[in-house]
Amino acid sequence: EAKRHGRSRYAFFDIDLHALHSERCVLSEELRSAIVRGELNIHYQPKIGLSSGAFVGVEALLRWHSPTLGSVSPARFVPIAEETGCIVELGAWVLRRACSDFVGWRAGGCGLERLSVNLSPIQFRMPGFVDFVREVLDETGFPCDRLELELTESTLIEGTDEILRTLNDLAELGVSLSIDDFGTGFSSLSYLKKLPVRALKLDKSFVTNIDSDVNDRTLVDGIIRLARSFGLSTIAEGVETKAVSDMLHQMGCDQGQGYYFAKPMDLDSLKDWVSSADVLKRL
Ligand code: C2E
Ligand code: MG
Ligand code: MG
Ligand code: MG
Repeated sequence: EAKRHGRSRYAFFDIDLHALHSERCVLSEELRSAIVRGELNIHYQPKIGLSSGAFVGVEALLRWHSPTLGSVSPARFVPIAEETGCIVELGAWVLRRACSDFVGWRAGGCGLERLSVNLSPIQFRMPGFVDFVREVLDETGFPCDRLELELTESTLIEGTDEILRTLNDLAELGVSLSIDDFGTGFSSLSYLKKLPVRALKLDKSFVTNIDSDVNDRTLVDGIIRLARSFGLSTIAEGVETKAVSDMLHQMGCDQGQGYYFAKPMDLDSLKDWVSSADVLKRL
């Protein structure tokens, strides 16, 4: 009786694992051809200066629409692409495309201070990564000092000399670095004093509810103070209401990003958004 129970439990477990495994296989197989089939796109989400209310930059967010699977969230496919190594190719595509999307428009005076691109630790650790970035900037003509790379704490966790060298080389190139999802990792904070980081990006998981959750508010306030004492800039993601935006501004946070200001959108919609009078009303 117990044995039968045990076996059926085991069977269930087995089926789930199998489903999980085959989903991964299907996704990674489909991803491999997504670039050549033109299924990838980039959406750009505006970043807003909280004092000025001005549009200051964008974050490039990868989008994948597969004809067979529909729209797949990067939260689902990025981890798989990292496992298979496919992220190197995807990430290269994003960087090149984002830089070329903005080079002409920026020169025309769109107010863009910085273009931010997310970076996987796998890309970052590839030998020759800095040369690759330099190449893309040369090829596209996008100005080095307007590019920002968003890294997560997991990229820095080992803190080796190699990582430090890569970061310094990027900084020397004029590219700025920010720590994405700051506060969600478990890494030592000692890196803040030795790495060439420009900004900390507060994760949406403790930004969105600062107006109602005292713990979140305390945490966010603490991170902003910490950043300031290190001379770092701060940006909050997941700003969904005016109340939260105002509160962040009072706490001294420099920039905000979130649905309250704008959702991620394709390049054409972004151009419309930036030029619409509605932006001024909203901010
Ligand atoms: P992330 O870099 O932390 O990006 C922020 C995520 O929050 C984005 O999700 C964005 O659409 C979402 N978001 C923005 N404003 C709000 C808001 O007000 N409320 C809420 N609830 N969410 C908001 P998305 O686009 O699904 O991307 C998820 C993650 O996938 C990103 O997190 C990033 O880690 C990764 N990712 C996206 N594009 C790339 C890429 O090109 N390369 C790499 N390596 N990772 C990427
Ligand atoms: Mg990011
Ligand atoms: Mg983030
Ligand atoms: Mg995040």
